[in-house]
Amino acid sequence: MLVVMHPSATPDQIERVVQTIEEMGYDARPMPGGQRTTVGLVGNDGRVDGSRIEALPGVAEIIHVSKPYKQVSREWHAENTLVTIAPGVVFGGSAVHVIAGPCSVESEVQIVSAARAVKAAGATALRGGAFKPRSSPYAFQGLGKPGLQLLAQARKETGLAIITEALDEEGAHLVAEVADCIQVGARNMQNYSLLRAVGRMKKPVLLKRGMAATITDLLLSAEYILAEGNDQVILCERGIRSFDQTARNLFDLTAIPIVQRLSHLPIIADPSHGTGLRDKVTPMARAAIAAGADGLMVEVHPNPDRALSDGAQSLYPDQFASLVGELRTIATAIGRSVGAPQASRGGTAAVRGG
Ligand code: PEP
Ligand code: MN
Repeated sequence: MLVVMHPSATPDQIERVVQTIEEMGYDARPMPGGQRTTVGLVGNDGRVDGSRIEALPGVAEIIHVSKPYKQVSREWHAENTLVTIAPGVVFGGSAVHVIAGPCSVESEVQIVSAARAVKAAGATALRGGAFKPRSSPYAFQGLGKPGLQLLAQARKETGLAIITEALDEEGAHLVAEVADCIQVGARNMQNYSLLRAVGRMKKPVLLKRGMAATITDLLLSAEYILAEGNDQVILCERGIRSFDQTARNLFDLTAIPIVQRLSHLPIIADPSHGTGLRDKVTPMARAAIAAGADGLMVEVHPNPDRALSDGAQSLYPDQFASLVGELRTIATAIGRSVGAPQASRGGTAAVRGG
């Protein structure tokens, strides 16, 4: 529920609303705006009787948020939320940022050369897992902590922002020491203790859609993070399981405009896991930008044939460079641009598609 105060409401009147909400057993989130203050009521699982609050002095209106997720919804917050992972790397504005890099961090030579290649092509952030969630316990599990150090080194050499996955709360603290953005992967989208833990951290989070998750499930998982006080959340469509086996996943592009209508959070697309097939990554990356995605995450490996994970869906660096060139044309056609770190600094509050 949202309590909209009169533009002339006094600080005392706002405080009284806050106290009343707390007396009713809920949490109050005052949100001062340009014209007036709104006080959000959180902690309810169902409709709250607003009659006690409606009668208080200074209250203009009560709005009941109809969706099961509250703080994530556009009803709660109409404007796009901008998520800044590093200076000039802002998701949710007019610039579309491209995150690229290998599935896993494998060695110094591999990650640094991948970082140099994706930077030269136009990416603004480097991806690469140090902690890998693998379907088989016998598959390469990532380098762990040394992998994080290699990512830090790649950032030092290229200036790229770093996005890497955490598998559990302990790993999230380690990842947060190095990364600019913590990735919560598809397999962990409903790991609620991990969601709460990253919600308490002061780091942006990339939350990937679970492979059997509905859009409502994804938004409810994001709500766990916002409920803990962290609104710096980027959502990611990465494909869902389907009955069709020709591609690794069913890449749900419709989710992009749907999420943009339902939520103020930015949403990016991962056509690498979305398709699982190298030659399908480029067409679906183009389509995702055309559909209005606020960014892309693409797997790129200096030598995909030797990759320790996801080589079959990883682009060669020259393929990635061609793709970014095409994305610039598509972004321009829909009134956006492909973000470069400096060009987008401070100026990304423009309207996006959807
Ligand atoms: C990844 O990004 O390498 C990854 C494991 O992705 P997902 O969680 O979407 O499967
Ligand atoms: Mn991967």
